Amino acid sequence: MDCLFCKIVNQEIPANIIYEDEHVLAFYDINPQAPFHALVIPKKHISTLNDISEADHTLVGAMVGAAGKIAKEQGFAEDGYRTVFNCNTHGGQTVYHIHLHVLGGKAMGWPPY
Ligand code: C5P
Repeated sequence: MDCLFCKIVNQEIPANIIYEDEHVLAFYDINPQAPFHALVIPKKHISTLNDISEADHTLVGAMVGAAGKIAKEQGFAEDGYRTVFNCNTHGGQTVYHIHLHVLGGKAMGWPPY
């Protein structure tokens, strides 16, 4: 399968990995939008949020849990941070392997446009 993030999971292309467990991987975004910007991905290929089945709910929970762990480890959990799943065109998704953006290190604006 020609998926960029599967290639990162399979170590076919490099990434700056900051967290890994049996089910998820997290690495620094190559084009950071905040002082800290990482992506948490499942090792299993899932194209979009629309493709999550009920059997994947535990996996998606593991992604959210990993985001919280990373925020604590990086020291910005208290000040706060932003987590984002983009889905399809209107959501701004560009890589079709689900990923949870974790952004921290500054106050974020809202709404996101
Ligand atoms: O939500 P969206 O699909 O737009 O996010 C994809 C993210 O993947 C972007 O923030 C982009 O910078 C990041 N990326 C990356 N490493 C790559 C390709 C894309 O971190 N090799």
